[in-house]
Amino acid sequence: MRSVEIFNLAKFYPNPYGEPFKAVVDFNLDIQQGEFVGLIGHSGCGKSTVLTMLAGLNEISDGGIVVNGREIDGAGPDRAVVFQSPCLMPWLTAFGNVMLGVKNVYPHASSNQRKQIVESALSAVGLADSMKKYPREMSGGMQQRVGIARAIALKPKLLLLDEPFGRLDSLTRMELQDVMLDILHREKITTVLVSHDVDEVVFLCDRVVMMTNGPAATLGEVLNIDFER
Ligand code: ADP
Ligand code: ADP
Repeated sequence: MRSVEIFNLAKFYPNPYGEPFKAVVDFNLDIQQGEFVGLIGHSGCGKSTVLTMLAGLNEISDGGIVVNGREIDGAGPDRAVVFQSPCLMPWLTAFGNVMLGVKNVYPHASSNQRKQIVESALSAVGLADSMKKYPREMSGGMQQRVGIARAIALKPKLLLLDEPFGRLDSLTRMELQDVMLDILHREKITTVLVSHDVDEVVFLCDRVVMMTNGPAATLGEVLNIDFER
C-alpha cells in the first residue's frame, strides 16, 4: 500500500536580487507503507527542503504531497520530525518534553493514558530510568533519544529524520541507529531519513534515493537505487 506520493514537487526560494532560486524542481517519489527510505545527495541539493516540505514546515511552490490519501496542507499530527539537534525545552524534564507534543495530539486522552504514551516512548529509546532528568543533566546522545521519543510518541503516519545522528560521536551514533531500527521494525512507521552519509543510509534504509546535484534547473532529478533485503 502506498503511504506517500510526492508529485512534481518544486521549491522556489525568493531572491531579492532577481529570479527565485530553484532549490527543488519536479521531484517525484512514491513511498510504500512501512518503508524506510534514505534521501542522500551532496550538500545543497535540496534534501532538507524536501523534508521540511514533507513536514509541512516549508511552503510548497509547485506540485504536491499526498500522505495516506490526503494532500497535505501545512504541518499536521500525522507527521513527526527529528532534527539534528532536539532543541528540548530546558525547563522541562525528559518526560515533560515528550508530554508537550502528546498533549496537543491527544487532547481527549485521559492524563493517565497520556502518561502511559510518554512512558512507553521514553522506554523504547532506553530512557526508562531517566524520565525526570533535565536536558542539562543529559548527554547529547540522551537528549537526542528524548527527541526521538517525542516524535514516536505522536504515533505518526510518517516519520521524518533530518540528519538525526549527525552531531553524535561514532559510538553514540551506532547506539541510536540501533534504537531507531528496533523501533521501526516494531512499529513499522513509514520513514524518510535525510543524510549525507552513504554508509548510514545503506546500513539503515530499505531503499536509497539519491538527489542529483546538477545545475539549479535539474536539481529535482532523482536516481533510484533499490537494495534487495
Ligand atoms: P541540503 O539539505 O541537500 O543540503 P537544502 O535543502 O538545505 O539542501 O538547500 C537546497 C538549496 O536551497 C541550497 O542551495 C540552499 O542554499 C538553498 N536554500 C535553502 N534554504 C533557503 C532559504 N530559506 N532561502 C533561500 N535559499 C535557500
Ligand atoms: P542547525 O541544525 O541549523 O545547525 P540546531 O538545530 O543545532 O541548528 O540549533 C538550532 C538552535 O537551537 C540553536 O540556536 C541552538 O543553540 C538551539 N538549541 C540546540 N539544542 C538545544 C537544546 N537541547 N535546547 C535548547 N536549545 C537548543
